[in-house]
Amino acid sequence: MIHNFYAGPSIISAALLEEAATQIISRDELLSVIEISHRSKRFGDIVDELHHLTRELLALNDDHEVCYLQGGGRQQFFQIPQNFSQVFKTNYYVDTGNWANGAMKEARFFGNTEELASSKENGYRHIPNWKDDPEDAAYIYTCTNNTIYGTQFFETPKTNSHLVADMSSDLFGISRDFNAYGLFYAATQKNAGTAGACLVVVDKKMFNKPEGSVPTMIDYRTHINKKSLYNTPPVFAFVMSLLVLKWIKEKGGITYFDAANREKASLLYGELERNELFEPYANKEDRSVMNAVFTAKNEQIEKHFLDRAAKENIVGIKGHRNIGGFRASMYNALPIESVQVLVDVMQEFERTQG
Ligand code: PMP
Repeated sequence: MIHNFYAGPSIISAALLEEAATQIISRDELLSVIEISHRSKRFGDIVDELHHLTRELLALNDDHEVCYLQGGGRQQFFQIPQNFSQVFKTNYYVDTGNWANGAMKEARFFGNTEELASSKENGYRHIPNWKDDPEDAAYIYTCTNNTIYGTQFFETPKTNSHLVADMSSDLFGISRDFNAYGLFYAATQKNAGTAGACLVVVDKKMFNKPEGSVPTMIDYRTHINKKSLYNTPPVFAFVMSLLVLKWIKEKGGITYFDAANREKASLLYGELERNELFEPYANKEDRSVMNAVFTAKNEQIEKHFLDRAAKENIVGIKGHRNIGGFRASMYNALPIESVQVLVDVMQEFERTQG
């Protein structure tokens, strides 16, 4: 068995890969699901079910609209301000690392943009607080899970403005009040399928510009009105997302994965606290349950540990180049047994190298 800790694209349950292969090769139908028109009833049913299940799993109210787009996470960095910047208002960003920071840079193309808070001064080891709720906000932008630095928001910030969130690396992996958000999105390559699509949920109350004042392909209303079929969609990514969402529901929905992911995270962080050779990167209260980032106290052993882990079929734990060290991503499909194997290797490594 391979223990897949990659940060994204990332682990998908083996049973779903089998199911996807069957659908692609299509043994019982004449044509494969990815070689028919996206306007066919067969494909339309897939998209309907995908939308329906998304609403159900996230418990969305009637104000919230769902669409699946192309362009991954980074397209949202400019699509959000292009839709929602306003002349006499400010786009506020909470800087929790590369992803939020990258989004803030793109927002400057479209309107007045300010940093509301940042944890840059301590290397993004925590989620920053901010005192005053700005009165002139077009929106307040956050990234709920910081895939690179391994920090996560566990509470929804309180604000009278529209709250926007990049949930690319924790959507469907942790419980939240999703209706509290004006807009949230997730590229699908982590907990929501495979690379190629991005789920966007928007509260209708966000829209303030007349239709026709934003380019058609960029205006979220285009995709909402056409049920994600305005232009040819990434059909394979849609098929995979539907398979993954059905699997999430079968297992017990987000509540099930919230508990399972917290258990995996506490097993690994427990060992990181105990083990003499390693230390967790983020401050305790903000440590992500999805991506555990850690370093070796003595940098020289890092390469040896990677080699030792590879012998146990542990893959994907090399840290992001910004921090070095290690990152273990524990998305929904990663079984706790894989985390146990990692912990066992750390303990053995401590005994033999310590
Ligand atoms: N936001 C977050 C939190 C991410 O982790 C990533 C990618 N890992 C992105 C945005 C960018 O997504 P994409 O590569 O699909 O543009």
